[in-house]
Amino acid sequence: MILFEKAYNIVMNSARSIDKERVAINDSLHRILSEDIFSDIEMPPFNKSAMDGYACRKEDFKNELKVIEIIPAGKIPQKVIHKNQCSKVMTGAIIPQGADCVLIVEHTEKIGSNKIRFIKNNTNSNICYKAEDIKQGQCVLKKGTKIEPQHIAILSSVGCVNPLVSRKVQVGIITTGNELVEPDKKPGFSQIRNSNAYQLIAQLKRIGAVPNYFGIVEDSEEATYNVIVKALSTNDVIIITGGVSMGDFDYVPKMLEKAGIKILFDKVAVQPGKPTTFGISNDKYCFGLPGNPVSSFVQFELLVKPFIYKMMGMDYEPLTIKMPLAVDYTRKKAKRKSWIPVKITKQGFVKPLEYHGSAHIHSLVYADGIISIPIGETIIEKGKIIDVRQI
Ligand code: AMP
Ligand code: MG
Repeated sequence: MILFEKAYNIVMNSARSIDKERVAINDSLHRILSEDIFSDIEMPPFNKSAMDGYACRKEDFKNELKVIEIIPAGKIPQKVIHKNQCSKVMTGAIIPQGADCVLIVEHTEKIGSNKIRFIKNNTNSNICYKAEDIKQGQCVLKKGTKIEPQHIAILSSVGCVNPLVSRKVQVGIITTGNELVEPDKKPGFSQIRNSNAYQLIAQLKRIGAVPNYFGIVEDSEEATYNVIVKALSTNDVIIITGGVSMGDFDYVPKMLEKAGIKILFDKVAVQPGKPTTFGISNDKYCFGLPGNPVSSFVQFELLVKPFIYKMMGMDYEPLTIKMPLAVDYTRKKAKRKSWIPVKITKQGFVKPLEYHGSAHIHSLVYADGIISIPIGETIIEKGKIIDVRQI
């Protein structure tokens, strides 16, 4: 059995980066950027009005002002602003020469047909200055960024319509267990529904990988071996759940080895997820996750997710927040680092949820995050500040 931190390092040090491809901007959501993006223009490209109003000289704002031009967004101003003059400007319009502020419409009143007066005591400039947001040549997005809608806005504004991104990692999912039936079936007395496959498919989609599902495999050496070989031939990574423990029908580690996978670890001092297994062969990777769905969920979060992100060129840092514990937390055994589901209260505390162990998938339904209890510790006292890892 190895420490979780060691297992994590083995996994992360094994990750090789995969190929890159150019995709249309509209297909780039949730992909990992493989190049730095530089701006070809300044933003804003000119001094721009932030409001609908009247552009004038600040020193004149207490005077009556003559309106000499109307400037919509997209039009080049024709007139220069002199003493006691203004041009009516729309939001996004170029500020005419000579003006250094915009009096907003709501703070002015009309006097006659082409004069206005400011009715407040002071004004901001209400100007977005040329290049104040982005300079030409500036790096606006870093390689390794996971592309979200706000990044797509930046790609659009600098004219990058075909960003270079990492290819999506192809992940084969295999679930083992004679007791499993698919969710559309009513389980018989000795059966349970397969939740891991669909949980994993969703976890993989959430990180921008492609799940390829190979179904439920019976607990036999031959069936396990055959599906491993098949899944390895068309995927970068395979994830097998169940069959990695010490039971009489747990064939997965042996069949992985038979399929040419070198097992780098098969027991980790972590709870849930002790029998978590990891192996490699040339350019393929394999995770064996325990069958219980909380173990599968948590080990995916802790190991598989950062690994797949790294393959796609992103250094994944889980969001963790420091919060005080709402109640004392105790456990009987302290040989493994354990992770438990928690809820964040409205009062700003973190509260462990009712949790019966790694089969209790329903406990995660209410969880905002998970917290870890280090090896050797059986009690964490109320009020202690702990890291809450978002899930
Ligand atoms: P195993 O790791 O195969 O010993 O399975 C441990 C526990 O997880 C057993 O109670 C299994 O019935 C359950 N289990 C295994 N695979 C799944 C699955 N795909 N979905 C839900 N539960 C599972
Ligand atoms: Mg099993």
